Amino acid sequence: MTSPSALHALAAEKKPAATDVVLAIHGGMADDEEDVSEEEAKALREVLAESLRSGHQRLMDDDASIDAVETAIKVLEDSPLFNAGKGAVFTFEGRNELDASIMEGKEKRAGAVAGVTIVKNPISAARAVMEKSPHVLLTGRGAEVFATKAGLEIVDPGYFWTLPRWKDIEDRWRKARSRAGKQSAVERKSDREATGDVHWGTVGAVAVDGQGNLAAGTSTGGMTGKMYGRVGDSPIIGAGTYADNEGCAVSCTGHGEFFIRFAVSHEINALVKYKGLSVAEAVERVIGKELEDAGGNGGAIVLDAQGRFSAAQNGDGMYHGWITRDGRVETRLWEK
Ligand code: ASP
Repeated sequence: MTSPSALHALAAEKKPAATDVVLAIHGGMADDEEDVSEEEAKALREVLAESLRSGHQRLMDDDASIDAVETAIKVLEDSPLFNAGKGAVFTFEGRNELDASIMEGKEKRAGAVAGVTIVKNPISAARAVMEKSPHVLLTGRGAEVFATKAGLEIVDPGYFWTLPRWKDIEDRWRKARSRAGKQSAVERKSDREATGDVHWGTVGAVAVDGQGNLAAGTSTGGMTGKMYGRVGDSPIIGAGTYADNEGCAVSCTGHGEFFIRFAVSHEINALVKYKGLSVAEAVERVIGKELEDAGGNGGAIVLDAQGRFSAAQNGDGMYHGWITRDGRVETRLWEK
C-alpha cells in the first residue's frame, strides 16, 4: 500500500494543467476525431470559448462562482452541439429526459433534477431546487412543476429534437432489431446491459471566486438509448458533481453507472481533502486508474480554491477548456 507520505511526494511532482484558472468547462467525451469535420471542430471550440467568456464575464460582474457555473452551462445547454439541453440524446423510447445538478463548496448546498422533459435549462432548475426547495433532488413531473412555479423557461418537448441525435437513436433501433433477429435470449440480455454507440457530450463547469468559494455543475441528456426512467451520474451529488472549498470542485462525464458506483467526484475530492493529493494527481488516480481498471469510460475536470486546474479522461479525448482570472481562454478537443 502507498504510504501517505509517498502519496504526498507524488502529488508534489504532478503539475496542474493550468493555474490561475477561475472557470473551467467540459463538453463531454469526444467523438472519434475522424468523425468530426474541421468546421464541426471549429464550431465546438467556438461554443466552448463563448461559454467560458460568458461565465467569466458573470464572475467579473458578481464574483460568485455559482453564477459563473450556471451561466457557462446555459450556453452549452443552448447549443445543439452538446448532449445537454437543446442537443440532448434520445431514450430508447425516443424521448429526451434531461438530468442536471449544481453544488457550492462553502456550505455544501446542492440541487438537482432528473428526467425532465420540458425545462429549457435544467441547470437553472437544479439551482432553483438548491435555493428554493428544502430538497436536493427532484425528479420527473415534480421537478417540472417546481421549475414552472420557479418561473423558469418551459418549452415543448419537441424543442429538444435535433436531427443528429435522432439519427443516433434510429441507428440504435436498427442495431437492436438486427441483433434481436440473430441472437439467443442470453445474448439479447447482455445487449440490454451494453452501452455501445452512445453519444457522449454531457456538459459541466467548475469555478472559483475571489472569496475562494468553489462551485460545480453538470447537465446532460444521459446516454443514447437509455431505458425509460434511467438516471445517470450527472444529477447525483458525489457521482457526477461535487464542490468542497476544502477540497475541490469536480464535474464528470462518461458512462454514468460507473461514476455512480465509484462515487467519482466525491472520491476525487476526498483524495485532495484528506490525502493532500494535488487535483492533477487525484483526477488521474480515479479516472486513469480506478475507473480505467473497472472498464468505465469517462473523464472529469477539477479545480481547487487556489485556481489549480486539471482534467483527465480515459477515452480518445474530452472537449474542455478553461479561462484564467485575466481572461486567457484555452480549449482542448483531442489534445492531451
Ligand atoms: N454521464 C452521463 C450519463 O451517464 C453521460 C455522459 O457523460 O455523456 O448520463
